[in-house]
Amino acid sequence: MNKPRYFTKSRFKLALDCPTKLFYTRKSEYEDTSEMDSFLQGLAQGGFQVEELARMYFPEGVAILGDDHNYGKLVARTNKLLQRENVTLFEPAFLVNGLFIRVDILEKKGNQVCLIEVKAKSIDSESHDSFITSKGTIGAGIQAYLYDVAFQQYVIQLSQPDWNVTPYLNLVDKSKQTTVNGLNSHFKIVPNSELRTNVEVTPGLSKEDLGEPIMAMIKVQEEVALILDTNPVDCDRTFDETVKFFRDHYAEDIKIQNEIGAHCRDCEFKLDNPGTGKSGYHECWSEQLPKQRPDLGTITNEIIDQPKSYEVW
Ligand code: SF4
Repeated sequence: MNKPRYFTKSRFKLALDCPTKLFYTRKSEYEDTSEMDSFLQGLAQGGFQVEELARMYFPEGVAILGDDHNYGKLVARTNKLLQRENVTLFEPAFLVNGLFIRVDILEKKGNQVCLIEVKAKSIDSESHDSFITSKGTIGAGIQAYLYDVAFQQYVIQLSQPDWNVTPYLNLVDKSKQTTVNGLNSHFKIVPNSELRTNVEVTPGLSKEDLGEPIMAMIKVQEEVALILDTNPVDCDRTFDETVKFFRDHYAEDIKIQNEIGAHCRDCEFKLDNPGTGKSGYHECWSEQLPKQRPDLGTITNEIIDQPKSYEVW
């Protein structure tokens, strides 16, 4: 029996970037250059350090650990702990209608729930007011993060309709200065650790050892409501329709044909030497270029690799 293809928040993020990528992701025949990119990996590790730091402010928190691919067990562990009236969980897992998420930090007091997404992005908490612009849209630099939170809130509400969920972004506060020298040395990146983040925290380190807090808890209830209600990235579909559209195509492994264009420039499925494996980029362009440019005749990799107008600067 084939393994079910659950739609996760990382796949949602990928699909928002370009829905065609859903077809190429996690397939061994298509090379994904982002998995080999040491700069991106460094960024991810920095994010994990910040996540461990954020967890320190919730000393009562319980981490849901276990095999990342055994969704059933992770959900069962989460559900058992959620039976408590009050509980704080790190990485709780939710699976509903083919949608799967893990939440960075979830604080539950009765049916009042805080959904907290930790990011290594910085913010000046003293001057911050709202991520909604004067035109009533979401600022471009933060949109992907807020869509991530909106997706999590959407899945949690499907799973727990009685909960009253308040979403937050937990960001590094650049209006604050750390009062502890070498704070980052307490969060060492290691190849393997008990924690999902692969960060080892100095044994015995407590919240009190962290000095002045340098993380800002930013409430994003209005921003998430705007996304769930109006879905600003797609005027033709509601948020609910967008999620189902992506989920169903991913589950059935059906390619969504997105138009080729400037957004393909940094596509992670572009192989420089497509002879060595399948290049999703070359596949997209060979399928779609004949429709856009019938004058080019037979499309070869040499034609696809010719300089593009969007590369001129
Ligand atoms: S080549 Fe372009 S259309 Fe194809 S997956 Fe990459 S970004 Fe999407």
